[in-house]
Amino acid sequence: MVSKTIKSRVPVVDLMPTPEPVGIGVDNKCGRCTRSICCNSINQQVPTPRSKSDFDHLLWQVAHEGINLFKDSDGWFLHIETRCAHLQTGGFCGIYDKRPAVCRDYSNDFCELDESIPEGSEMFFSTYEQLEQYCRTRFKHWDRRLD
Ligand code: SF4
Ligand code: SF4
Repeated sequence: MVSKTIKSRVPVVDLMPTPEPVGIGVDNKCGRCTRSICCNSINQQVPTPRSKSDFDHLLWQVAHEGINLFKDSDGWFLHIETRCAHLQTGGFCGIYDKRPAVCRDYSNDFCELDESIPEGSEMFFSTYEQLEQYCRTRFKHWDRRLD
């Protein structure tokens, strides 16, 4: 179930406290997460798409590199692959003491290290072609939107 993963929708983490030698105040789970997954993407909820026009707009977005679309029990989200500018070598947060609330509130109890978004979502589209195929299934006359 992705809903918990979705909570990580926006960056995240209770990464490691201020830069300190490994082993001092470091969360072991985050310490094992060598890719700092949650600081390398954001999830932005979007209005539930219903019409051909809605999906046509999402097609445009998904056509861009690093932009994915998924749906889970909480709704529809853009998953944007982008590294936080404050992520430091070794997974440290460069602004730990003043990091945004979304990062403070995030728990690593069940995060993207446990289940990736593609694994946990009901639907996940990473390419234009994947989403277009879904649109053709969902809408009987998909191509008529262009008329
Ligand atoms: S994905 Fe999970 S384990 Fe990895 S840094 Fe983020 S909260 Fe920690
Ligand atoms: S501000 Fe810090 S905790 Fe938040 S996403 Fe950036 S590096 Fe991660």
